[in-house]
Amino acid sequence: MTGNLERSSAHHICGRLVLMTSVLALTLFTGSAGAQLDGAAGLAEAPVCVNNKGEPVQFRTTGRGRPGLAAGMAIRDSSGKPVVLRSNYPAAPRVFQQFIDRHECAHHQTGDVDRPHPPRNGPEHLMNESISDCVAIRRLRDEEGFGEPEFDRLADALRTDMTKIGFPESSIASRIRNISGCFANPASARDLIDQVLKERGLPVQ
Ligand SMILES: [Zn+2]
Repeated sequence: MTGNLERSSAHHICGRLVLMTSVLALTLFTGSAGAQLDGAAGLAEAPVCVNNKGEPVQFRTTGRGRPGLAAGMAIRDSSGKPVVLRSNYPAAPRVFQQFIDRHECAHHQTGDVDRPHPPRNGPEHLMNESISDCVAIRRLRDEEGFGEPEFDRLADALRTDMTKIGFPESSIASRIRNISGCFANPASARDLIDQVLKERGLPVQ
């Protein structure tokens, strides 16, 4: 992503990674393979999302991004409002759209968006991505009733698109293993968010 949004700060921007580099990165993208579209616009309903400061997060569709690859970006817009930008969502299966939304929301919930972006693809960055993945899958399990079939469809979509982008099998397997472990663990998304906020010395909502 380029332009004012990118220059405005060091906010977390998942989508930027794949646009600029194909090195190891735990980000969210997908292509058109196996898309299962629901609704008139082919878009999943955006989830409720409130950041760690109690501000409501808006979801907006953007025309930016790489054609055919769905992506999300968690940022503050030029007026400072927390937003999730959805690009090319109709290219993705619905379960993957739902996952991207909640993953990006988690970057707002944990305060990532207002913290300096850690070195790209370093351990802290990868940990933030793992946390957002974990929050996302637990919300889908607890709020949207995701079971094994939905999990499998999501993992398939993730694998297909990460492969297409050029991620090594080891990163794909590692990411899916993390999501699977979170899915199996009965702790809630909120439990994890609160733990992260505490570790960061940020107020728990
Ligand atoms: Zn992310």
